[in-house]
Amino acid sequence: MKVAVFSTRSYDRQFLDLANKELNSSHELEYFKTQLNPKTASLAKDFPCVCIFVNDIADAETLKILAAQGTKLIALRCAGYNMIDMHVANELGLKVVRVPAYSPYAVAEHAVGLILMLNRKLNKAYNRVRDDNFTLDGLLGFDLHESTVGVIGTGKIGTIFAQIMKGFGCNLLGYDVYPSEQFKAIPGAKYVELPELLANSDIISLHCPLLPSTNHIINEKTIEQMKKGMMLINTSRGQLVDTRAVIEGIKSGKIAYVGLDVYEEEEELFFQDYSDSIIKDDTFQLLQSFQNVVITAHQAFFTRNALTSIAQTTITNINSWQQGSELTNEVKVSGKNQQK
Ligand code: NAD
Repeated sequence: MKVAVFSTRSYDRQFLDLANKELNSSHELEYFKTQLNPKTASLAKDFPCVCIFVNDIADAETLKILAAQGTKLIALRCAGYNMIDMHVANELGLKVVRVPAYSPYAVAEHAVGLILMLNRKLNKAYNRVRDDNFTLDGLLGFDLHESTVGVIGTGKIGTIFAQIMKGFGCNLLGYDVYPSEQFKAIPGAKYVELPELLANSDIISLHCPLLPSTNHIINEKTIEQMKKGMMLINTSRGQLVDTRAVIEGIKSGKIAYVGLDVYEEEEELFFQDYSDSIIKDDTFQLLQSFQNVVITAHQAFFTRNALTSIAQTTITNINSWQQGSELTNEVKVSGKNQQK
């Protein structure tokens, strides 16, 4: 089957081609480097399947173009489906499949990496030694042992993250609208309401999906309730955080460390090379300018294991649809449950 694969890099091609071969599928995968949006949707003319990633734009306008051109299936190479207007997809009869889980370890481990980098200032230390400067001034950290870590969203990734932090000897607080048995099973882990988590955590890590109820869950009011000198980690979705409020929190000293793998307006920036041009997003530039902020460009998922799993599930999803088998990874939501 003809599949138009958007937002692709060399690694997407490598892993998808391999999965297509290993699963004895013979899909004609046509790779486009460009993002899917209303302007690029015409590239997918006569492709029954369109395959997209986190920063593609499958809004109402794009979906209508795709449906009119013959697309029937949208295969997401990710778990989150906030980039697609599910209400319109349902109306147009477009089937949407996703990769509900690939390597939760990849994302959880990256969150831990950000914590270690911020705490022990590894980014600065590395550059300092490269510069033959062996002083320690300004590199002071704190023991993770016995610090309190708040986990917002204790699903697959949040629970693994909590298990790793338990290994460091941290106290664990969790907040979730659907508490999980796996999180409860971690010795000492405790579910609390959000205000208690905010008030008592030295480190807060976000692992909930982007929904209307979680949009800007970190905002001026929630920041006010946090412990002074806390660390904020977001490897989930950029819009969980009101970036302007976080900047004010940094300036006031309330937030002492920020580690981000996602950014509110990342669609324009991430996965692109702007090293030879000017970034016009003032908020991003201001955020970057702080010494106590570390940003990575949505790379938490980026391990060999995760890419293998994403590619295999994506090809399997496409095979199931083509063969008329049950779509176990179908996104089935009404407009009400739409991820933002
Ligand atoms: P999951 O569905 O297993 O867990 C999400 C948890 O959030 C669930 O337990 C759910 O009950 C909880 N939740 C929902 N609404 C909530 C609310 N209002 N308050 C608190 N908790 C709430 O998902 P997962 O596999 O653990 O992934 C979590 C998120 O990580 C994804 O939604 C995605 O946004 C993000 N993610 C990021 C990357 C990356 O590369 N940076 C990769 C994969 C996933």
